Amino acid sequence: MNKEELIAASEKNIVGTYRRQPVVFVRGEGAHLWDIDGKEYVDFVAGIAVCSLGHSHPKVVEAICRQAGTLMHVSNLYYTEPQVRLASMLTANSFADRVFFCNSGAEANEAAIKLARKYGHDNLGGKYEILTMKGSFHGRTLAAITATGQEKFHAGFAPLPEGFRYVPFDDVQALEKAVSEKTCAVLLEPIQGEGGVRVPDEGYLKAVREICDRRGILMILDEVQTGMGRTGKLFGYEHYGVAPDIMTLAKALGNGVPAGALAATERVAAAFSPGTHASTFGGNPLAMAAAVATLETILADGFLENCAKMGAYLQERLWSLRKNHPVIQEVRGKGLLVGLDLSVEGNSVVKACLERGVLVNCTFDHILRMVPPLVVTRPDVDKLVQVLDEVLER
Ligand SMILES: *Cc1c(COP(=O)(O)O)cnc(C)c1O
Repeated sequence: MNKEELIAASEKNIVGTYRRQPVVFVRGEGAHLWDIDGKEYVDFVAGIAVCSLGHSHPKVVEAICRQAGTLMHVSNLYYTEPQVRLASMLTANSFADRVFFCNSGAEANEAAIKLARKYGHDNLGGKYEILTMKGSFHGRTLAAITATGQEKFHAGFAPLPEGFRYVPFDDVQALEKAVSEKTCAVLLEPIQGEGGVRVPDEGYLKAVREICDRRGILMILDEVQTGMGRTGKLFGYEHYGVAPDIMTLAKALGNGVPAGALAATERVAAAFSPGTHASTFGGNPLAMAAAVATLETILADGFLENCAKMGAYLQERLWSLRKNHPVIQEVRGKGLLVGLDLSVEGNSVVKACLERGVLVNCTFDHILRMVPPLVVTRPDVDKLVQVLDEVLER
């Protein structure tokens, strides 16, 4: 099939949940992609913060091929080595004592919501309410959209599960006031990703931790987007001198192979016992082998330093565009999670960049989000900046 035939067949056969750009990709390497007509692109989307080592990273490819030829799946009725290796690496490199594996961000948050409720049931006299943030994003299952503090994701899906309330992000007093007799947990992203790359005040997460401790409730961090090195540290919480009770991971965990995880302290994880939660595919050897190779690469010397350095370079170059382009309101982010806030609608900018061989994505109608592979280079950033300079001129 050529490009036109493929797009027509897609529009005919696939449920219309996505508004796609008119491009068919066939190959990727590092921070670069090629479409079906052989045109090359610099990728500042990375499958939405998924392919953090870049496309087809040789270590991940090798691990997948080796594992696929050895053992792909046996179920959690049994022990398998790749799952144990990844769990041990995650607990050794985070606050967590135990890990539960699933396949996506929504599933990881679903598990976190269930664990918080079970913990409330077992230890907090039946408290069940979870406070989440306005402008947040936690995924697309019924509980995850309900946790998501944006009405547009709720419309048409009533009745939603009970037990969620929303407070403004980055507002300590509002959170303090909202904690009720029924509250068992607070769920939030360290930096709101889909919500437009919102970086909270320096002391915010510490204040949230303090409230949770004082009220005896759980702090759950959704690190699905911020985790696995995206912000220049392995996990977003490390920037803020706090640790949560539960953290969720997915997106970059398997560098493109679907994998999700919940990580928790011993005390909290103990609320899950055999039969209380499960996943058929979760922790399967293929996904775990990909994730082990991914995490080993992220933890190797210099990798996270490069991410922090390229993130600073990207932000500095984007700020420098502002003097010629007053439509740029602000550049914000941490590491290689960067948002460019525009005073104009962003979709036409995304399209114009695509035509010029640069992939960026737009959230909240007017915020360009840049989440490139963490192996992005200066010439890649320079190309993005040159194309944005040209596109914003119009
Ligand atoms: C992408 C995302 C999710 C949902 O992940 P899926 O794998 O699409 O279910 C949840 N939380 C955050 C913060 C995300 O960025």
